[in-house]
Amino acid sequence: MQIPFFNLKRQHNSIKKELDSAIASVLNEGQFVGGDQVAQFESEFARYCQKEYCVGVANGTDAIELSLRALGIGEGDEVIVPALTWIADADAVSSVGAKIVFADVLETEYTLDPEDVRDKITDKTKAVIAVHLYGHVCRLDELNEVLKDTNLALIEDCAQAHGATYKGQKVGLSGTVSTYSFYPSKNLGALGDAGAVLTNNSALARKIRLLANHGQPVHNEHLLRGRNSRLDTLQAAVLSIKLMHLNQWVARRKQIATLYVDGLAEYFEFNVNLDEDAFHLFVIQSDKRDQLKKHLEKKGIRTAIHYPKSLPETEPYKSAILPTAKKLAATVLSFPIYPEMTDQEVNYVISAIKAFYTGH
Ligand SMILES: *Cc1c(COP(=O)(O)O)cnc(C)c1O
Repeated sequence: MQIPFFNLKRQHNSIKKELDSAIASVLNEGQFVGGDQVAQFESEFARYCQKEYCVGVANGTDAIELSLRALGIGEGDEVIVPALTWIADADAVSSVGAKIVFADVLETEYTLDPEDVRDKITDKTKAVIAVHLYGHVCRLDELNEVLKDTNLALIEDCAQAHGATYKGQKVGLSGTVSTYSFYPSKNLGALGDAGAVLTNNSALARKIRLLANHGQPVHNEHLLRGRNSRLDTLQAAVLSIKLMHLNQWVARRKQIATLYVDGLAEYFEFNVNLDEDAFHLFVIQSDKRDQLKKHLEKKGIRTAIHYPKSLPETEPYKSAILPTAKKLAATVLSFPIYPEMTDQEVNYVISAIKAFYTGH
């Protein structure tokens, strides 16, 4: 059996009629930037996330960068970033000219260690980026406790957490802003690059919208120095269709995660929350990670590593090593998980992993 790491063809086949008609309507109307479909998706996604305002942007990295800019963060400021995450978080901070200060992550939760965040705060710190890595929700109460009585902004990077909840409500509610990516493989993915920023602060939403469109409230009137980072009409129309399926897709991810947890409890320690996590990825830790990866490949099963280096170990962001992030980078492995996987396929992966450990 061949099990790819993810497979969008199945998803798109399952909703082909809806996608075709959404795409046809954009072609018929002939507007490809801005327009009703963008405004409609923004309001639907805001409602889904239980936030007041949603600003569609070109991708998830821009969502973070524009948030930092709108918050007035730049040269001379410091931003705390987890040492284990996708490099986009560091790139966004460096592109506004602020200094990145890495904080370590928690060994079994993969997310920011609130105590290390506390230790890293200085007079220059302006924001903390909390990443719900793999769809696993950060310790938000503890982070809020650390940030209480400070003026620091909390940016919740929800790029891997569409549909995750914290205490029964959607993630992103603690953040001054929460940012999303709709890169094709995310839990909610466009047919190309796309992203969004959500906030309850109307002035901040307005500023982000201006920054993303050359500082223009209306065409040819420029209020500030901006750039171009807009959400395409076609992507918005596709995202509106897919959003209607998101809850069902996240529910299926949880079912698959449950199969993995139940089937593999002997071999790995899991610290997952089957009610609240969004399972963008299903990640285990193993000292024999590379051998296990190779073994599964021989059986036709593709796995991936998120991420093979902690950010302080990367060339552009070389800095003091943070031990937990470094250790995780050497041991984590992501198994295939996507809503269209069948139980039979998940069970095939589970038996291939068992075979690795039992030697059969
Ligand atoms: C995907 C991702 C981003 C960036 O999103 P793009 O749309 O690819 O720019 C940021 N942070 C995390 C944690 C991500 O997984």
